[in-house]
Amino acid sequence: MTATLQTKKLSNFINGEWVTVDSSTAVINPANGEEIVQVPLSGKESVDVALAAAKQAQKEWALVPAPQRAEVLYQVGNIMKERKERLSQLLTMENGKVIEEARGEVQEGIDMAFYMAGEGRRLFGQTTPAELKDKFAMSQRCPVGVVGIITPWNFPIAIATWKSFPAIVAGNAVIWKPATETPIMAYELAKIFEEAGLPKGVINVVFGGGSIVGDAMVHHDDIRIISFTGSNETGRNIAAECGKQLKKVSLEMGGKNAVIVMDDADIDLAVEGILWSAFGTSGQRCTACSRVIVHERVKETLEERLLVEMEKLTIGDGLDQSVKVGPIINKSGLNKIKQYVEIGKEEGAKLLAGGFVWQNGVSQGGHYFAPTLFTDAKPSMRIAQEEIFGPVVSLIPVKSFEEAIEVNNGVSYGLSSSIFTKDVNQVFQAQRDLDTGIVYVNAGTTGAEIHLPFGGTKGTGNGHRDSGVQALDVFTEWKAVYVDYSGKLQRAQIDVD
Ligand code: NAP
Repeated sequence: MTATLQTKKLSNFINGEWVTVDSSTAVINPANGEEIVQVPLSGKESVDVALAAAKQAQKEWALVPAPQRAEVLYQVGNIMKERKERLSQLLTMENGKVIEEARGEVQEGIDMAFYMAGEGRRLFGQTTPAELKDKFAMSQRCPVGVVGIITPWNFPIAIATWKSFPAIVAGNAVIWKPATETPIMAYELAKIFEEAGLPKGVINVVFGGGSIVGDAMVHHDDIRIISFTGSNETGRNIAAECGKQLKKVSLEMGGKNAVIVMDDADIDLAVEGILWSAFGTSGQRCTACSRVIVHERVKETLEERLLVEMEKLTIGDGLDQSVKVGPIINKSGLNKIKQYVEIGKEEGAKLLAGGFVWQNGVSQGGHYFAPTLFTDAKPSMRIAQEEIFGPVVSLIPVKSFEEAIEVNNGVSYGLSSSIFTKDVNQVFQAQRDLDTGIVYVNAGTTGAEIHLPFGGTKGTGNGHRDSGVQALDVFTEWKAVYVDYSGKLQRAQIDVD
């Protein structure tokens, strides 16, 4: 049976209470255009109320020993596990990704819960020798206070867990603004936190538009950190504002990710990797493969094999187990993809497959775009430079390994890259020279595991990382502590013999 919601309108979760808001808008299933539920459009005042609760709650939460804080996360992980199928189905309904991928995303959240719960017994600092006698030196992680997290629609639960779980285990309180397009995962996760026994006010979910709720969070002095995932444009504006306030800001933004296929590659494997990373989630992943940099000696073979396999991709509602490519999130996303296909044609790239709106889906009320393949694209073309965020991939032929690396790095983003080759020397050179935060060898550009750092270089981010132990760096301050047990004043750098 398909999962359903018990309510027709979601509520904010503030200070452990479900708070209704008068104004709301519809959450639409992108597969069929049907309304699933209403989501609140909160005002700035909801952020103020949530902040007051979070400030109060954080003071007490920070005093709970970290291993006990972690117990709540173990509980969260257990409940998520029990509800995995329900969460996955609701995720497919609000976001459109096919059910197999939705299950994978929910699993990512479960993994993150157990991984970060483990951090409750680590949260390692360092002890180090002091330069003076009878003196002890160490560093420790401290919570920061109230943190703000702002998340996008394309991974409505995984990204939230990458951010909120480390923040919570480290002793912070959270105000979370999910994307208005996909609020159901936030509602479900807030319910899970409540059931898991997280004290009131430690997590607060405020639904509403980015320009109102998100903006209020960014401008509030008492929110000490903003952790944002979304578009480059929004991220830059947030960073500029946070810069004025000297507020810590962690940004994870777009990508223009490439698969490199060398002339010695296992072509069948490369085709599988390209299909999965280019057309999975209909190309609406920050790590989606949007360029294939192919050695000219295997270009034709690769094109032929890709075309054969693309024919087999079934499009439709992601709840149908046989479907491989789900809908596009909304009309404006669809229009953007259409525009880029026109740009690609005008620029002189050769359209080999797709390039059109899938009409069967339109009659179902959804927004679907056929998997699309361009070839003979030039590295400087806009379709090879700008994020399209749809099922469109462009083949760029190159003559050598060196040229492949240069083309890979010649974009303003630096999230994920991949190389298919059997040459061990090229594997290690690529690993060294690819200017991205994530590198895959003989796999596509997607498939990050939660215990490794996630993020990118250049226009993808600002040097921080989500997930992995590195996520703790975003949500903690380092404190250096010196304990002098000599009984006299010892001056560092001066009283050293
Ligand atoms: P977006 O438009 O920037 O929105 C992201 C979030 O920011 C949403 O919650 C949005 O709220 C909010 N927001 C919008 N304007 C804001 C403002 N002025 N102040 C504060 N918050 C504001 O991005 P998107 O289109 O949802 O997401 C797609 C983008 O995310 C792509 O570029 C993709 O590559 C990137 N992404 C990156 C990663 C990564 O880890 N590198 C992962 C996933 C996605 P509302 O939408 O509710 O208004």
